This record gives sequence, structure tokens and C-alpha cells, in this order.
Amino acid sequence: MKKSKHAVLSLQLAIILGIALLVCWGLRAQDKDFSKVEIKVTKVSGNIYMLEGEGGNIAASVGEDGIVIVDDQYAPLADKIQAALKNLKITDKPVRFVINTHYHGDHTGGNVPFASSGSTLIAQDNVRKRLESGGIAGNGSSLTMEAKPAPKGALPVITFEHDVTVHLNGEDIRALHFPAGHTDGDAIIFFPKNNVVHMGDDFVRYGFPFIDVSGGGSVQGMIAAMDRVSTQLPPDVKVIPGHGALSNLDDVREFTKMLKETSAAVQKAINGHKTVEQMKQEKILAPWAKWSGGFLDADKFIETLYNSLTGNKGEFLKHN
Ligand SMILES: [Zn+2]
Repeated sequence: MKKSKHAVLSLQLAIILGIALLVCWGLRAQDKDFSKVEIKVTKVSGNIYMLEGEGGNIAASVGEDGIVIVDDQYAPLADKIQAALKNLKITDKPVRFVINTHYHGDHTGGNVPFASSGSTLIAQDNVRKRLESGGIAGNGSSLTMEAKPAPKGALPVITFEHDVTVHLNGEDIRALHFPAGHTDGDAIIFFPKNNVVHMGDDFVRYGFPFIDVSGGGSVQGMIAAMDRVSTQLPPDVKVIPGHGALSNLDDVREFTKMLKETSAAVQKAINGHKTVEQMKQEKILAPWAKWSGGFLDADKFIETLYNSLTGNKGEFLKHN
């Protein structure tokens, strides 16, 4: 009797672990079946397109000078992405530049095939560093994901500290570093002529956001980035989130409001000398339940906010 109860518990544990592994979509490309993934292309504005497949959203500037893409999902999808761009029948010219918004594998997984077919990879300095070293990404507590050191061919060959501009297709495509948000190497990419912005994972639509506290991210940085973007961009700017559907500034403001309110709730609990366990038991994020469960549940987001606000980064461990 005791034994079968144990077996049931083990099964439950196995299911929970299985779900947890499935949820960690970012960095385990080798476990995925990409054969059924289709690339959906949406015209955003002018000559800017959004491509969805598996992993982070791609922005593409497609025009007479060739193609610039922002992020490249996973290596097995590179041919499908190339085919989808060709299918637009706008240009026969290649993808000349790939700009990575940050180092995570669901945004940089295609770097090797794109670089080997002639694209130049561009990213913030810290993206190259983290790709090169590999390490354990995570929220500083129970959520951890392993990033293996990337091969040389995946490393950006042009890096920047603060910003870089790619002048192509009649547009000044600008990548601007926003420090310590989703990671420490985030770039938000602006297409000013077409009034489009690609947010990387500083803005996502799956609920409570994953913040890679171990990879130098923080909720404070994410809030600062969103505040700056939503006060400086035109009200009708089209917003490509790191994950999820095409959005607008109202969506960004609602997301930012949630970040501020949940941070304040956790800060209040910290000031009241509550432990993370107490915050979880008291369900202090219950008023924001609608944001829970897409990737992070409320407990994991409490950990994230606690670690962000107290400066507990966990460890971004290097491989030997
Ligand atoms: Zn990410």
C-alpha cells in the first residue's frame, strides 16, 4: 500500500518535471521536433514583416538592398525562414544582417546557418560573451536552464556597447542597448521610417515574464526600458513582442503596470521581513492571477521579483 502510494507520487513528480522541462523551451532545441513548424509571415508596416514559427518572433526589413532580420529562432528552421522571406518575392538578395535581441537559444539558435550562408551577426557585447561562455540561465531560484557554450560560427562578429545603426532599405534600423532587463545584453530594435519596434524579451505576451536574473536581468531594468519606450515612441507604433501577437503601446503599458504593481507587492513584503516561502503561502500575487501560468506561475514570479529586488542573482555558472 505504502509502496503504491509512493509510485503514484513518483508518477506525479515525473509529470510535473516533464511539464517543467517542456516549459523551458528556450534552450533545449535538440529535444524539439521542428518538422511540423510552419513559418507564418505577417506584414507589419511598409517593408517590415513579422515571422512566427517556434521561439522568439522575427522582424524582417525586406527591400531593394536585401534583408535584415532581428532574431533567428532555431537552426533547424533556418531553411524555412529563408524560404518564407524569398516567397515574399520582393528581393532575391540575401539576409545580409541578423541582429540578436539577446543571447537566449530561442532567439539565436539560427545564428550558425545564417552566418554560414553569408549573413553578418550583430549583437550587444554581453550577448557575445554569454554565447561564448555558456552557463546556467534562470530566475536565481527554482527556474534554471542550461545554455551550452555556442560554437564560433554562432558568435556575433559585430558587437556594440550602447547602440548601432544599420542603414539599409532606406531606413536607419537602430539597435539600442537597455541594461539589465530580461538579460544584461538586451537590445530593442527600432524601425523609425516604418514606425515599428521589436522589443526582444523585454516585452512578451505569455503572462508573467521570464527574467534571466542569473544572466544579469532585473525587473527594475525591464520597467525602465518599458517606461522609456512607451514615453518616447509615437502612440501608433507597431510593437513586435519577443513572444506573442503583434501589439501596441497600450499592451506595453498594461504589462509595465503589472510589473510595477507586482514589484511593489513583493517589495512591501520584503520590507515587512517576509520570506519568499511566506509570500508564496500568502499568495501575494493573487490579484494578478490572469498573468500566471503561461511560462511562469505566481510562485516563480515571486522568486524572480524577490531576487531582482534584493540583488540575489544566483549564479551564471560557466562550464569547465
Ligand atoms: Zn529570452
